[in-house]
Amino acid sequence: MRLANLAGRAVVVVGDRAIDLATATDGKLGPDVQSLYARWPEVRAAAADLDVGAAQPFDPALLGPPVPRPAQVFAIGLNYRAHAEESGMELPEVPATFTKFPACLNGPFGNVEVPTDTTDWEVELVVVVGAPADRVAEGEAWDHVAGLAVGQDLSERTVQFAAGRQFSLGKSFRGFAPLGPWVVTPDELDDPDDLALGCAVNGETVQASRTSDLIFTVPELVAELSAVVPLLPGDLVFTGTPAGTGFARTPPRYLRPGDVLESWVEGIGSIRNTMVAPGA
Ligand code: ZN
Repeated sequence: MRLANLAGRAVVVVGDRAIDLATATDGKLGPDVQSLYARWPEVRAAAADLDVGAAQPFDPALLGPPVPRPAQVFAIGLNYRAHAEESGMELPEVPATFTKFPACLNGPFGNVEVPTDTTDWEVELVVVVGAPADRVAEGEAWDHVAGLAVGQDLSERTVQFAAGRQFSLGKSFRGFAPLGPWVVTPDELDDPDDLALGCAVNGETVQASRTSDLIFTVPELVAELSAVVPLLPGDLVFTGTPAGTGFARTPPRYLRPGDVLESWVEGIGSIRNTMVAPGA
């Protein structure tokens, strides 16, 4: 199943068409998409019964983040070996965790204000929590995942690396968490632990890797995080970015207004975000 947020209404996407969930279920589910993650088994059952013939064409530009108001957003740093090396950092022994404050979530085709001339890209696989996860073992972790989405962990490097390491603020400027284009349930993927992912700036591929290169896998992240704090339905985990970031290049390369950033994960889809000047 593919669940999207079309202009604030939950829709199930079938090919290039969408079914409005509230309309199809006589108001039992939706239209608010965030509330659905706490009722995930009901959503799955309803989606299996939908009349595919009722699907309507839609404008992708109207898609918002498929998880618009998560209670918690976890993000993991240095979770691909080659990215840790390009960053000049030691490999972490536990997941290096920070947050992206939820108000920076953005739609899959939303514009992103570039606040400074040191704004960087980070394509990531994003986990959406379904069932509450409290002290979950690795072997049961996927049972607590509603689905997966494509995300960008946009990063303002000057603030991120400022004295005091303002990781969370540097990664939470307005619109710095594009997410989408929809949430795909793991059963749609041949192997949810091995997905190609990458991103391109103005058509030039700058990152390309596979999630099988994650140092801490999705089940390990769910286990490690839920050992500390319960994960709630609709929470997000940005799982880390592979090598190819702009700040690690010689010379460094950053995003500018007018740049188009396209990001993809195999089996999920692509998101596309245009960089704009502050206040544009
Ligand atoms: Zn990241």
